[in-house]
Amino acid sequence: MDITLFDVEQIAKDIFNLSVEVKPLNGYDEMNFLLTTDAGKKYVLKIAPETIHPLLIQMQYEMTKQLSGSSLKNNFQEYIPGKNGEAIVPFEIKGEKVVIRLLTFLEGDFWVNTTQKTDSLFESMGNFLGKMDKALSGYYHPAAERHYLWDISNASDAERNLHFIKDDEKRRVAGYFLLQFNTEVQPVLSDLRHACIHGDANDYNILVKGSKVAGLIDFGDAVYSALINNLAIACTYAMLHQDDPIANAALIVKGYHEVNPLEEREIDLLYYLIAARLCISVTQSARQSVMNSDNEHHFLSELPAWKLLFQLLQTNPVKATNSFRLACRFPNIIHSDDNYKNIRDARYEHIGRNLSISYKQPLKIIKGTLQYLYDDKGNTYIDCVNNVSHAGHCHPTVVKATQRQIAILNTNTRYLSDLMIDYSKRLTAKLPSELSVCYFTNSGSEANDLAIRIARHFTKQKDIIVLDHAYHGTSTLAIEMSPYKFDGRGGSGRQPYIHKAISPDLYRGPFQYGDKDAGKKYADDVLRILQELKSENKKPAAFICETLLGVGGQIPLPEDYLEKVYEYVRSFDGICIADEVQVGFGRVGKTFWGFELQEVIPDMVVLGKPIGNGHPLAVVVMTEKLANTFNNGMEYFNTFGGNPVSMATGLAVLDVIENERMQQHALETGEKLIDGLKRLMTKHSIISDVRGTGLFVGAELVKDRTTKEPAVPEIDEVVERMKDRGYLLSTDGPLHNVLKIKPPLVFNEENAKGLVRNLDEVLNELNY
Ligand code: PMP
Repeated sequence: MDITLFDVEQIAKDIFNLSVEVKPLNGYDEMNFLLTTDAGKKYVLKIAPETIHPLLIQMQYEMTKQLSGSSLKNNFQEYIPGKNGEAIVPFEIKGEKVVIRLLTFLEGDFWVNTTQKTDSLFESMGNFLGKMDKALSGYYHPAAERHYLWDISNASDAERNLHFIKDDEKRRVAGYFLLQFNTEVQPVLSDLRHACIHGDANDYNILVKGSKVAGLIDFGDAVYSALINNLAIACTYAMLHQDDPIANAALIVKGYHEVNPLEEREIDLLYYLIAARLCISVTQSARQSVMNSDNEHHFLSELPAWKLLFQLLQTNPVKATNSFRLACRFPNIIHSDDNYKNIRDARYEHIGRNLSISYKQPLKIIKGTLQYLYDDKGNTYIDCVNNVSHAGHCHPTVVKATQRQIAILNTNTRYLSDLMIDYSKRLTAKLPSELSVCYFTNSGSEANDLAIRIARHFTKQKDIIVLDHAYHGTSTLAIEMSPYKFDGRGGSGRQPYIHKAISPDLYRGPFQYGDKDAGKKYADDVLRILQELKSENKKPAAFICETLLGVGGQIPLPEDYLEKVYEYVRSFDGICIADEVQVGFGRVGKTFWGFELQEVIPDMVVLGKPIGNGHPLAVVVMTEKLANTFNNGMEYFNTFGGNPVSMATGLAVLDVIENERMQQHALETGEKLIDGLKRLMTKHSIISDVRGTGLFVGAELVKDRTTKEPAVPEIDEVVERMKDRGYLLSTDGPLHNVLKIKPPLVFNEENAKGLVRNLDEVLNELNY
């Protein structure tokens, strides 16, 4: 609307008989003006476009009237009728139809400009809202039953605006919270108490006088919605710019509950409602920005809203909810620390007894949130080890793809399926063209088992060459080819058809850093085995190794190693299998697959763990020749392998890795992490080697850099103390002294810095 201050002066005179000075005020959809009479009396003139329905304007008027009969009667603007006696005046200006209202001016400072925000001010906000909602209880207007985008109950609609957010991490975080809204709030929403609410107690609408909230303006967002949403919206904006926003919100809750009691189930949703409101706000800002809006009101909350969303992401909802509950004197949901005796006893009774539990004080994790994990005691942990949740725990795109497909169809490969074709095409497009045929399974173990079966079938040989300390899975055959297991506790030793080559460890092995020929020298140990086999008139079926060694100690392979090994193995007619279960899908940053770092092309690759972001999916991808030979008359059928839900999940994982540029992110974040850890090496003699690429990193801890004696009790203590500081780490390597770091790829620079800083502090505490 092209309305000038002069036009407004005229309107004030013509309709309200006031001669005034005019100043523009903020407005989202409407235009607002401050009018000051010669005598210094102030008013607010509102000009609403025709797009705002007349019934809505009528409703705003009625709500204000309802409140004028309450204890808050002086805290809301009143309508001043025009010369014709009407408070709502339809008008036409410059050919446009508008509606004009004149309201009294409320004195006070806006919340956003209030510098001294005391606890009692926050409580007073709650008190004010509680009284307002009480005064409005029983009020109803049919126009309030509208589908309004700013109504938290409609937060799911914001999903369609996520694509306007250009920053990958922000888009993912907003998507995550909207997924939580759908999961935690949506199913119970319609059961909640509903009412006509103000719906916009934001920091530009709340007026403060002294240490009290003295007014609330702008009923433009009034809507019939869940009652708790009114409080949730007020909390959201009051939490902006705060260091401890949950504590502030708890004060507001307390003030509200004192005058208008809340229900437990309402309070238990508050955290998610606040996050949902922020998601509406940030998606709207992103949308307006793409549409080139120049209305600064559209972006007022954008930066602090993002900051608060990230603060919430790092706040365990159990902790937040408990604070809100305690503010209402509802029962505590965080229970005393019994070290989970009941669960542990039941687990001992009903679950296999050689499943291990991490940490001295076990964790009961109840929710996964991208790179964070929440336990049932309100703690937040940064997951620094779970490479399975590659794209982040509960990545919204992946979860939704799985949810959708499981609601449509889950069958098996005996029916034709577009999804299976789409996925195998997408996956093989990521691989060298030679690797073109997929066999889907449910786990890395099963896929390795199958790969060996195919290699044996093809070569008509049985012998397998593996690397010392390797782990390839838990099936009978996979255990047989995992020295980590068969040489370890409870293991039954090496089978005669399994052969161990020296682990190409440049830190501890016979050929070390600085030896330019180390790769070839280690490869020669594979040649030794091949020649031994030959001397017994045998040939290898397969050589299998990881393309960076995981359980073996987070070890990148020496230069030229696989090139030489594959050359040797092939010259003896063996099949080269790359186990990419730990390292594939962009983790290593420089390349998408680990084998690409070595510039080789395996005959078969085995993919697992990250492939389904936690969904049980794995695959063997092989050459056409191998696949043809395996097609020997015996059906390959795998009940779950290749099912449509797994395929939809796998596709979504590839989508997010690409759309959110995760490989590049892994490269950049990994470099910063490795630099930080290398800096620690100069301060702490216990760290004797830092190695890795992308977000696949290891740090070796020793008691003495010369003897390289592994620092085993020390590393265990470091891991425990890091856990107490909120970082979940783990150890690996044949000597159990390598700190392993392989977080979900959404692990960010701030997480990396925090990890290095806390590790530094822990090593200082322990004088290491
Ligand atoms: N290969 C490697 C290199 C692994 O690390 C693992 C699991 N740790 C497996 C195979 C087995 O995968 P899964 O546990 O999915 O059977």
